Amino acid sequence: PSRKRLPATKAAPFSFDQIGGQERAKQELVEALDFLVRQEEIAKLGIRPLKGILLYGPPGTGKTLLAKAAAHYTDSIYLTASGSEFVEMYVGVGAGRVRDLFKEARTKANKAGKSNAVIFIDEIEVIGGKRDGGQQREYDQTLNQLLTEMDGIHANESPRILLIAATNRKEMLDSALLRPGRFDRHIGVDLPDKKGRLHILNIHAKNKPISDSVDMERIAAESFGFSGAQLESVMNEAAIYAMRENSGTIEEKHLSMAIDKVMMGEKTDREGTK
Ligand code: ATP
Repeated sequence: PSRKRLPATKAAPFSFDQIGGQERAKQELVEALDFLVRQEEIAKLGIRPLKGILLYGPPGTGKTLLAKAAAHYTDSIYLTASGSEFVEMYVGVGAGRVRDLFKEARTKANKAGKSNAVIFIDEIEVIGGKRDGGQQREYDQTLNQLLTEMDGIHANESPRILLIAATNRKEMLDSALLRPGRFDRHIGVDLPDKKGRLHILNIHAKNKPISDSVDMERIAAESFGFSGAQLESVMNEAAIYAMRENSGTIEEKHLSMAIDKVMMGEKTDREGTK
């Protein structure tokens, strides 16, 4: 089996300002990150270094964006992988990929002259799901390798590695992952409230010709229960409706139709294949 290189990306400068709502999650994350950068004090006080942060919550709420912003905030190299990339038919390949990912983080950070590296693993539950009753699964080795790598992170090494993982299914995670010294900071990333939705809508309305008559507050109220990803879709669909009508600007009716469309789309997804 081939040991494909994992896709790794350097974060494009991405800041917390570009994330709408999520004020509490942002604040908790920044607090944790501030702690990470104060390495000398931490070593002096003998505090256990922060190794892993778990972001949990429904899909499309900005967990990936938060991880990117965290990398930018700490001036880190950013590498990303998804739990499903580690699942292979052949025993040991997933574990090898985990090892490679950490190695790559260290090499890239050194090359770029950075003292920190953020590794973001989305869908962590795929490799870190509960092991039921001692039953061995083919990818237990992968989880073990991840735990080994985490245990090998030290406060005074350079580059310092911080793992950020995301999941929609926190309750599925194996307790070994959540133990102190592993992913022991948990930050909930919920669906945005109305104020958050307004903020997100405004972020995605930038660079779009929105008519002056649009009442964005009303759109935020109408899109109750939408995630950030759905709000981004609303803006995009509204622009498509405007184009179909040869309207040079996006009007409120385009936004309302887009809300319906995104809502219907979700319904069909749920009632259809899923
Ligand atoms: P998943 O659990 O499905 O991986 P996620 O929580 O990681 O989702 P993101 O990938 O961060 O979600 O968000 C997807 C897209 O939705 C973003 O690229 C962005 O366009 C939009 N989005 C989501 N949340 C926000 C937000 N809080 N502010 C602005 N845009 C957002």
